[in-house]
Amino acid sequence: MKKLALHWQILIGMLIGLVFGFIMLQTEGKDFTEDWIKPIGSIFVKLLKLIAIPLILASLIKGISDLKDISKFKNIGLRTIGIYIITTVIAISIGLALVNIMQPGDGVSDETIAKLTETYSENSSVKAKIEEASKQMGTGPLQFLEDMVPDNAFNALSNNKLMLQVIFFSIFLGISMLLIGEKRAEPMKKLFDSLNDIVLKMVDLIMLFAPIAVFALLANVVVSSDDPDILYALLKYAGVVVLGLLLMIVFYSVLVATFTKKNPFWFLKEMSPAQLLAFSTSSSAATLPVTMERVEEHIGVDKEVSSFVLPVGATINMDGTSLYQAVAAVFIFQALGLDLTFTDQITIVLTALLASIGSAAVPGAGMVMLVIVLESVGLPPELLPIGLALIFAVDRPLDMCRTVVNVTGDATVSMIVAKSVGKLGKPKVKNWDDNYDEV
Ligand code: ASP
Repeated sequence: MKKLALHWQILIGMLIGLVFGFIMLQTEGKDFTEDWIKPIGSIFVKLLKLIAIPLILASLIKGISDLKDISKFKNIGLRTIGIYIITTVIAISIGLALVNIMQPGDGVSDETIAKLTETYSENSSVKAKIEEASKQMGTGPLQFLEDMVPDNAFNALSNNKLMLQVIFFSIFLGISMLLIGEKRAEPMKKLFDSLNDIVLKMVDLIMLFAPIAVFALLANVVVSSDDPDILYALLKYAGVVVLGLLLMIVFYSVLVATFTKKNPFWFLKEMSPAQLLAFSTSSSAATLPVTMERVEEHIGVDKEVSSFVLPVGATINMDGTSLYQAVAAVFIFQALGLDLTFTDQITIVLTALLASIGSAAVPGAGMVMLVIVLESVGLPPELLPIGLALIFAVDRPLDMCRTVVNVTGDATVSMIVAKSVGKLGKPKVKNWDDNYDEV
């Protein structure tokens, strides 16, 4: 019997998870789901995160030292960062245009605001999250640049939250290997080459378990969701974010067709396992191993490009997150009846760009960094917990959707950069099953 393609397996797992979650909600099965189902999803996400740091280290060091020439690195590096910034600014502009036209915050009544604030002030884990986010107040938008530079490489390697530091260290090491010349760098290069192949095989093995894991992840999202009344009040706001995210996917399709002359539907289909995982895990970092595998094996981007573009993109290029931050900031101001001037909206473009770069590629990070945007346009500190409480109920589903856009954006840019330097070739794997069968 022919095996079902991986993206269908994952999709079916997700649907069964959703249905199962709803049944559990109706039948008081929340505790059962948390005790017996949730761990399956958590183990899967832990395994993906487990290999994220070795993968970044191996692929960046191998990728940069493969370039053989520092001017090639400069060329790819500058193109990548330039395109990342442009796509993020476009994402923010789309978000701002939609939220200003559709005004989702105007419909939120004072009773809803009072109810949301009360609900969240009673929930200790939500309070802790809001307090964590509030700590961003006063840190300044360029803090991430300072945080990016590690003072201890081993410390950085031992902490998933310090991924940007690992990237910094790996690029630094890779460049130095280029500079000492191929011959002297050879032993180190061989080591990371082999580590890279091994980690990619680990991705294959973990992915065997993906359909069951996404079932568990989605079932758990459903049982831990909020009161439907609250979700309903935020429907218009969530709708604006989702519409913006959909427009971004259309935008990427246009970019792919224009700059790489490839069929965007083919691109989206080949990327779908990574997108579905981004949706289920809400983490670009956890999805990174699969994004790399899809882009290299199934899209045909040369490792020389993907090994730099994707790890950097997973941590700094978050178009979905930046769009969401722009919409959420304006929505909070609208709902609280506060005004934003045109200059404020320009400030949002700049701060949402920096805040999305500074957001870690983990669930919920976008909301924490949103505080920087809110602060930059003068939200009074005493209104911050209320503002965050307002958007909290729908944050998880929006996080799932924005992570899909974050990952798709990285893959799109990797294709464009690869094409522009003549490194977009034929995919190695044409059929979904080929790769996952061979394990
Ligand atoms: N969860 C997102 C990601 O990992 C970041 C965020 O917007 O919270 O890409």
